[in-house]
Amino acid sequence: MKCRVLSDRVYFTLLTVGTSALIACGDAAGENSEPVSASEAGLFSNPDFTLWPSHVANVCWEGAAATDPAFATFRTNARTWIEQYIARVTDFKFESWGTCPTFIWDEAAGVFHTGIGWIVVQLRPDGDASWGGYAYDPHPTLKFGYQPDGPTLVSLKPGHWENGGNQAAVLHEFMHALGFDHEFNRRDNVPVQCFLGVPTDGTSFGTQFDPLSITNYSYCEGIPNVLSSWDIVGLQNVFGRKPPGSIVGYRDACIFTPSLVGGTPARTGTCIGSDPDLAEAAQRERWRRDSSGRFSLPSSASSFLSTAPGNFVRYGAQGTQLNFNSAEVRGIGDKCVAPANGSLVSGTPLQITTCNGSAAQKWQVTGNGASVTFRNGSLCWDVKGASSAANTPIQLYGCHGGGNQSFSIVNEGALTFQGMCLDSAFATPQDGLPLELYPCKSNSDWSRHNQRFYLSGRISTGSSCLNNNGTGGSLLTWLPCNSSTAQLWDYHFLAP
Ligand SMILES: [Zn+2]
Repeated sequence: MKCRVLSDRVYFTLLTVGTSALIACGDAAGENSEPVSASEAGLFSNPDFTLWPSHVANVCWEGAAATDPAFATFRTNARTWIEQYIARVTDFKFESWGTCPTFIWDEAAGVFHTGIGWIVVQLRPDGDASWGGYAYDPHPTLKFGYQPDGPTLVSLKPGHWENGGNQAAVLHEFMHALGFDHEFNRRDNVPVQCFLGVPTDGTSFGTQFDPLSITNYSYCEGIPNVLSSWDIVGLQNVFGRKPPGSIVGYRDACIFTPSLVGGTPARTGTCIGSDPDLAEAAQRERWRRDSSGRFSLPSSASSFLSTAPGNFVRYGAQGTQLNFNSAEVRGIGDKCVAPANGSLVSGTPLQITTCNGSAAQKWQVTGNGASVTFRNGSLCWDVKGASSAANTPIQLYGCHGGGNQSFSIVNEGALTFQGMCLDSAFATPQDGLPLELYPCKSNSDWSRHNQRFYLSGRISTGSSCLNNNGTGGSLLTWLPCNSSTAQLWDYHFLAP
């Protein structure tokens, strides 16, 4: 059974019954319930799966797959899918993407001694199944995820790499390579949905059973070809959220400055995130937006991203006001903040819902640090009655500049009013759950994602927008605004 989307009416009816009704429904955890961490459900890890222990994997193509022009479109597509749908939403990066080195097999010991930390992608000419996360040896064995003594194998059948490839299949197999099990194997898959093998003990990483998980691809009807909201929450609980201050473009390209010297052109490259080997460089991709809309690095409050002179964006003393005039505000599982029923009318409560690009999900975001305000036309996010009590709703209301229409940024993008956090109810990425005030959760709380928000949209100055030119250290430019993916950025708030 899958819970229907809760309308406001049903939601409030259930509230009067109590949280047990929601839990019985199988889709939502009580706000105060402990995250599931004991071995009662197996979304991800079980004894045959090893979660990737670091924040980086090297991906390579085996044999002809690496160089044959016949596979070129697939290679580009597969890398794009992995970078855009997995790396972009969590603190994990995929590097290399070249031809596999020669990994030395120790016949006597029956193991490799090289290739640890690599994911080998193999495009088979025949066969009836694709595999992800197997041990890569002469006789691939089912040891999903990270391998402590050699590479991890992703092996794809023709139906999954031919004709440009199958996005859902590639994402599914890479989730196995990262160490995630089939969702349907969880013990809390009751009553059984999709195919169920042997129920498996494991850890669920604070997520609920989710028939829409990409790890159910090919077993469950109607699964989209992207990660589900719970998949995103699970990835963020295993590998972390994008670090505060990251400005992340299409295919996990982060804005950085190669040096702190004034006038240095800014660039875009694969997000460094929390890679411990590149901690110094990572500090040059963490941006704080000040009350004038200028982006600076925490190490120097007097140098900024600047669009003058020329077409390149530079790092220097002359800062440019860079605006989010029409940005989505995304919460748990990448859901968008929007007024109920998309109604842009004063008094309408705000809630989380699936992003759909509509005007009711676009916000002008002004100020930063001490106070940030979200506006759509003449309406602003507003703490109802200026009350700081738990469960106070957040609504639309005519902008008046009052304190209950500004929010402070703390931690990883938590937004506070008088010390209380904006929170989408039940810590569940389900359409229609309302935005309200609630006591703040720490960065180590597995259920915190309903109190973390980031911006997604174009970053503009006048009629020009920041333009992403790729993941390989390309120059960051500013061009007339358009609707391309090259001008879409996720900005993860950095607290003052
Ligand atoms: Zn599978």
